[in-house]
Amino acid sequence: MCGIVGYIGKSKACPILIKGLLRQEYRGYDSAGISTIEGNEICTIKRKGRVKELQSDENIDKLSGTVGIAHTRWATHGKPSDINAHPHSDCHNNFSIVHNGIIENYAEIREFLINAGYTFVSDTDTAVIPNLIDYYYSKEDSSDKFLNAVNKAIKDVRGSYAISAISKFEPNRIIAIRKDNPLVVGTSEDAKYIASDIHAILEYTNNIYILKDNDLVSLTPNEITFYDKDLQKIDRKVEIIDWDAKAADKGEYEDFMLKEISEQPQAIRETIGTRIIKDKPCDFSDINISKEYLSNVSRIYIVACGTAAYSGIAVKTIFERLTRHSSRSRYSF
Ligand code: GLU
Repeated sequence: MCGIVGYIGKSKACPILIKGLLRQEYRGYDSAGISTIEGNEICTIKRKGRVKELQSDENIDKLSGTVGIAHTRWATHGKPSDINAHPHSDCHNNFSIVHNGIIENYAEIREFLINAGYTFVSDTDTAVIPNLIDYYYSKEDSSDKFLNAVNKAIKDVRGSYAISAISKFEPNRIIAIRKDNPLVVGTSEDAKYIASDIHAILEYTNNIYILKDNDLVSLTPNEITFYDKDLQKIDRKVEIIDWDAKAADKGEYEDFMLKEISEQPQAIRETIGTRIIKDKPCDFSDINISKEYLSNVSRIYIVACGTAAYSGIAVKTIFERLTRHSSRSRYSF
């Protein structure tokens, strides 16, 4: 897992991207990096460690571009290091990409590219992608070379991916594609955003497109165009997300666990508070489950992860007590 964020608009991209990374550190935190378009060149800064290491880089404040991509990594191929951190560029620094996922056939693509004159500095599976895009771009003669090169590169790849790419040849554009890993696009009047998780960009917009598998998308500050895998234009519907952006922030708390603990009374009030009426039984009238139906239920499954799984174990005992059932239930992790 890892977190991707991208920005294209009129503001300085770097602070927006860093904030987006901080909100996605739960997705990966062994290294972090950022690429922005500075003039007509790609400038990349990446560091092993958490996002705060990247923030402390002496050059980070010099990034003033308004187009960029960023990544917080959880390594699958190649140890956590400065070199293996994303974004990854091709050996000519024409393209830069961030990737969430695994390229299963990277070894054979790498060999093909080495034979074609490309060089590699990292141990990651990801590094084959920008080089493959560069390879196809150099052979492309269509009118939309960047888009076609990305699409051709992706057709050679086996595995799972959410990818965002920028190019020095088209400094005012981000191209992104996903398969089996999440990616969302946010839109506001004069900026476009990309992220692995909606929370990363919710502060800036709640107009979100949730990409489907094999969707390819091209972003400019004012336009979003969606394509299928044959580069036919397709429609995607924007969704208005009404979550509270602050709910996903640590706020004044040191970490999320402390925040969750102190928000418990409020969370309970918001989830079950309306059902509890003084001196009366709990009100479940809006839930359409009859007594007859319930009396025929012979088994209850509680499926949950993390802390919710522990709540499930606690609730199992309560259910058994209330239904006077012997402990035939099991739980497995
Ligand atoms: N496979 C890539 C790597 O190891 C991406 C991992 C991720 O999703 O963070 O660098």
